[in-house]
Amino acid sequence: MSRNYQSRKRVLVTGGAGFLGSHLIDRLLDRGDEVVCVDNLFTGAKRNIDHLHGNPRFEFLRHDVCFPLYVEVDEIYNLACPASPIHYQYDPVQTTKTSVIGAINMLGLAKRLKCKVFQASTSEVYGDPHVHPQKEDYWGNVNPIGIRSCYDEGKRCAETLFFDYHRQMNLDVKVVRIFNTYGPRMHPADGRVVSNFIMQALKGEPITLYGDGSQTRSFCFVDDLIEGFLRLMDSEPGFAGPVNIGNPNEFTIRELAELVIELTGSSSTLDYRPLPQDDPMQRKPDISLAQSKLGWEPTVQLREGLQRTIDYFREFAA
Ligand code: NAD
Ligand code: UDP
Ligand code: UDP
Repeated sequence: MSRNYQSRKRVLVTGGAGFLGSHLIDRLLDRGDEVVCVDNLFTGAKRNIDHLHGNPRFEFLRHDVCFPLYVEVDEIYNLACPASPIHYQYDPVQTTKTSVIGAINMLGLAKRLKCKVFQASTSEVYGDPHVHPQKEDYWGNVNPIGIRSCYDEGKRCAETLFFDYHRQMNLDVKVVRIFNTYGPRMHPADGRVVSNFIMQALKGEPITLYGDGSQTRSFCFVDDLIEGFLRLMDSEPGFAGPVNIGNPNEFTIRELAELVIELTGSSSTLDYRPLPQDDPMQRKPDISLAQSKLGWEPTVQLREGLQRTIDYFREFAA
């Protein structure tokens, strides 16, 4: 779909120099929108948006969402927040501030502009879940004082703010709960399982398996996720979510390691390490709400998505 001049929108993407944000911006520009990208470059990288400089419909603002922002836009996607455990645990207080104060500022901006505002929430709001697979009406099992809490509770509080602005100010909000997503432009050193395993396999280093590798995750390829974002933003007025977006095919972490070794043709061995505190044992989205409300489901399966991600990572491992 491409837009003509009259239907063109100005869209703000916070966290736009990050992994997911930069893919979202590509899709928005492809369909003809103008994009204002806001990022403080904490975990994002200029290389993710380098190809956009010179595009007259793209603008970059180096800015921290913890501070007020006065811009004029038609829609807001709020993605700014470090997302991998090593990044969000580097400065946990800043992580909570980014989620909570960042949400307040983006909601205040949306209130002034009377525009739609989208929040990138997370499957982490379910914590170490007792219900499997996770549906949106499950309230979760989250430790409020552990090492993951700055992220989990920050994102939960952001959801609360989104729904209170929705109820109290009648704001049109859209909240997505993102399950583990991977693909090109993931940070090669962010410590997440897909980037770690691929980098280790490409370098022929041991693959670090935490615990016995029997914990599960469900991995979504980035292109599928972004399609879900766009459908949610364009969904019927009043539909706020939260809605799970993720790939329901569940794998153990050991299976993932074996698949990465196979696809890279690596001689890496498995190196078992202790399981980090509060590491969820299983995670798998129930996506029936996304299917019925957005007509969305993933199309890229793990083998194909991993191959595309491995191709991207080769230059970093060289
Ligand atoms: P990322 O780290 O690549 O991107 C986050 C971006 O936010 C970075 O560019 C970073 O520099 C920016 N940022 C951080 N703090 C900021 C601040 N205070 N002000 C302005 N910019 C700031 O991570 P990602 O994987 O692209 O994640 C994007 C969003 O999606 C995050 O909100 C994350 O919590 C959420 N999410 C991602 C996943 C996943 O699997 N990738 C899963 C669940 C939720
Ligand atoms: N805000 C902003 N840009 C705007 C409007 C508001 O960054 O265009 C911030 C503002 O700094 C405020 C926050 O959003 O702290 C919440 O705004 P809201 O109007 O809800 O609250 P109030 O200003 O009444 O505290
Ligand atoms: N993991 C692992 N080895 C690594 C990195 C992660 O075994 O080198 C495990 C981690 O303990 C967790 C799973 O892989 O059980 C997913 O970790 P990630 O940090 O990617 O995401 P999250 O735990 O936030 O879902």
